[in-house]
Amino acid sequence: MKSDVQVAVIGGGIVGASVLYWLARLGWTDAVLLERRELTSGSTWHAAGNTTYFGPYPKMTALFAGSIRTYLQAEQDSGVSVGFHQTGSLRLAATPRELDLFHVYAPRYASLGIPFHIRSPQEVAELHPFIDTRAIHGAAHTPTDGHVDPTGATNALAQTARKRGASVERYCPVETVTRAPGGWALATPKGTVTARHVVVATSFWAREMLAPLGLNLPLYPTQHHEIITESLPDIAARDTELPAMRDSWVSCNVRQERDGLLIGIYEKQPEFWALDGIPPDFKEDLLPPNLDPLMPHLERLMERMPLFASAGIKVANNGPMCLTPDGLPLIGPVPDMAGLWLATGFNVGIGTGGGSAEILARWMTTGEPPKGLDAIHADRFGTDMDRDAALASIREVYTRGYELPDAI
Ligand SMILES: Cc1cc2nc3c(=O)[nH]c(=O)nc-3n(C[C@H](O)[C@H](O)[C@H](O)COP(=O)(O)OP(=O)(O)OC[C@H]3O[C@@H](n4cnc5c(N)ncnc54)[C@H](O)[C@@H]3O)c2cc1C
Repeated sequence: MKSDVQVAVIGGGIVGASVLYWLARLGWTDAVLLERRELTSGSTWHAAGNTTYFGPYPKMTALFAGSIRTYLQAEQDSGVSVGFHQTGSLRLAATPRELDLFHVYAPRYASLGIPFHIRSPQEVAELHPFIDTRAIHGAAHTPTDGHVDPTGATNALAQTARKRGASVERYCPVETVTRAPGGWALATPKGTVTARHVVVATSFWAREMLAPLGLNLPLYPTQHHEIITESLPDIAARDTELPAMRDSWVSCNVRQERDGLLIGIYEKQPEFWALDGIPPDFKEDLLPPNLDPLMPHLERLMERMPLFASAGIKVANNGPMCLTPDGLPLIGPVPDMAGLWLATGFNVGIGTGGGSAEILARWMTTGEPPKGLDAIHADRFGTDMDRDAALASIREVYTRGYELPDAI
């Protein structure tokens, strides 16, 4: 293992792998990624892989677009499939106000060169015959997004970075992060790594990892479910994949998974997980499912998509998901700790990881912060946010689900 490098990335989920990829692509190849277990072993392995272009925050849209671009480029560079399904997405307007907001967002997509159409209920029914369109006002349609295989994408990113000269150390947990002359020292069971720059991409583990440095990052894991149904004959009979659907009224996303449906729900009573510390023996584990709080949403989904009422549930996965008090990631340098960078706090890490990594890697290699992205700066919560206040905000962000903010 390299013991002295220009940059060490801690954490081998989609975000850490994307950061290693982008640093190597921009010429910082004296780089090592240190992963506690296998790549993807945090939240990445069980994610649904949805990568939409739709986002209510103007500047964030570019991060979504940059992510699909990054994964497809890594696929080309490595020959490893990222499993991209270009199904397109429909964001339903459950209220007239949501439809108005889609018109407000439209020019942003034009400026980024992303196809974006506002569809009537009748057009929605043509694109997705299983949506009952009687109670909707239309939809925003982004036809060129879809979903990827998060494990395939992580492997493609890591393999490309390796081909460019970076290295990946698995089963190499970082035990402590301390200052060292000219940079940082990372203690691991395989020896100490010193690095001029360190990127912490350890999701909800980052909080405990950096507490000894006096940082109190407001990052906490919530439980989040995805439900996969048995095959449905009506879907099996189709010869094209359905577009993904997102709906603020149901507070869920739904996409086709093989011949069934995959449903992600933002329920009104979210549960946190491991608030007093991530269990040290937590591996590639899921949490016990708890379907009761999901039932009101599933009942609404039966109204919105009557086909779902006939579906048997095959799997209910409950996984931990990292959230910050405003639902946006923490990206950038830690003030007064030269060389220490964050790429953590992602709750849509597949959708935004690749694009965020490009932003961070350009920032690190040029020293120039990105323009207009203060909303994701790592220092925006200070270093000592009150825990109860952080948890209350996270709960609020989670339960808001797909509701659109009025101010954009
Ligand atoms: C059920 C479910 C469905 C989801 N679906 C989607 C979706 O469709 N689209 C989407 O965009 N997002 C989705 N998400 C969220 C997504 O999974 C996360 O945002 C994303 O995986 C975060 O990636 P990450 O790299 O930041 O973290 P992780 O994947 O958690 O990676 C962090 C890594 O750090 C490692 N690590 C921790 N401590 C150390 C240490 N001391 N030393 C070395 N390594 C360490 C861990 O082992 C882990 O591999 C979903 C989440 C859940 C729970």
